[in-house]
Amino acid sequence: MRTTYLIFVLVVLSIPSFPLPQPPHLLVRFVTLFLGMGFVLLSAEYIALRTMRQLARNQRNLIAPLQWFSKWKGRHRIFRAIMFVFFAIFLGWNNIVRQEFGLGSWIAIDDLIILLPFMLIEIISTAIFHQVDLTIDQTIERRSGVAAAPIPHEEKLWVQLRTEHGPWMLIALVVLTIHDVIDWFNFAETNQAMLAVASMGAMIVISLIVLPLAIRMALPLRSMPRGNVRDELEAWATHEKIRFSDILIWRTRHSLANAAVTGILPQLRYIFISETILHQLSPLEVIGVFGHEVGHVRHRHLLKFFVFVLTSLVMLILVGAGIERWMVQQWRLNESLFLIPLYLWLAVPYFYFTLGYFSRRFERQADIAGCRATASFVPDPASSMLDESSVAESITIRMREGTLLFLGAMRKVTLINGMDGSHWSWRQGRLSDRLRFLEQLAISPEKATVFNTSTNRQFLLSLAAIVVISLVAYLILSL
Ligand SMILES: [Zn+2]
Repeated sequence: MRTTYLIFVLVVLSIPSFPLPQPPHLLVRFVTLFLGMGFVLLSAEYIALRTMRQLARNQRNLIAPLQWFSKWKGRHRIFRAIMFVFFAIFLGWNNIVRQEFGLGSWIAIDDLIILLPFMLIEIISTAIFHQVDLTIDQTIERRSGVAAAPIPHEEKLWVQLRTEHGPWMLIALVVLTIHDVIDWFNFAETNQAMLAVASMGAMIVISLIVLPLAIRMALPLRSMPRGNVRDELEAWATHEKIRFSDILIWRTRHSLANAAVTGILPQLRYIFISETILHQLSPLEVIGVFGHEVGHVRHRHLLKFFVFVLTSLVMLILVGAGIERWMVQQWRLNESLFLIPLYLWLAVPYFYFTLGYFSRRFERQADIAGCRATASFVPDPASSMLDESSVAESITIRMREGTLLFLGAMRKVTLINGMDGSHWSWRQGRLSDRLRFLEQLAISPEKATVFNTSTNRQFLLSLAAIVVISLVAYLILSL
């Protein structure tokens, strides 16, 4: 889930409708809200205009202005999230909607109205930054002398808006609706902590089912036509005993090379491949990219994430409740001090480190699977050898070839997406490290098995630790 929308959901869920402290006056709050929104949008406009001026000035060197742009676009996203938290907590925007407007008991409507101004800001910011993308396209066209396919600007913007916001908005609303429905039944007397776990479990299950459908609805997709490439991809999936509903081609703005897989259930499982991958990569490299996604399914990464998040939430709620009770007793604090339950604060650093760690390892497991996929299409050297060399050696040679092919595909994808090796993401790690891992794998393919075994062992050990900590916390709480 995109971090901005995750923050939206967390803030809307976690800030209760406690009475508004007066002053500031309602009017003052509204004026501050509108001034703040205006400032956010103006700063986006400034970043866009400055980049476009730099682009116009430096026709030769596009890299420097684009790096500046991507850095500030990222910072602006963080700035928008901070502003949202500020409005929600210090301006009491949540409470204005729920109490002053009297919408607190409405299912989903209150959440939608709370989120509306911020979703608008997200959409308008995307539209503002889109001007820069158009300028880049025009500059590249002018320089190369090759005009790209004439797609109307409105259509390009529409595709980008749908890609960046569609799925997340739908998921955020679904999650908030489910929460409201559970809340509406009003289980005040039951164990609050267990209720929170149950409702989160329900939310995760339903959003996991809704997620593939939401992405299907929101993204510009079409089913991959039958033919050589699709037949080969399906053959590999069958070989790996993986079932899925469809392979979908994702129409991006001819610049994003990407692939993804969603869905725990085979009936709702889709594998997405962006148009650019199909256009710019060789068929064998496409198999590698597809093999990476198949690897995620084969290693059951989605299911593992689901189990990990749910058991971790149980543990965090129990540990958080324990710490809260201890703090209340120790320092004679007022319990209403914990506006946002402690486990939500704990959850951010906890998931950043643990989920980030496993996500990065799972990405490498999928990379290994991608190498295996390309390796399986490399001609068998043993069959052409006259003497009976060992089968094991031929497998090693093919795996080495496959790894090199996959490495080439990864480098191409990096180049198309305009990333450099230093690019770091909490879910995928540093790109150069990922490439170096593949280089090592090409030298000694037996490292793949070692890596897979140790990843699986670490995952099981972590789950065991989570269960033990939860049990201990539960026992201490029930004393
Ligand atoms: Zn992946």
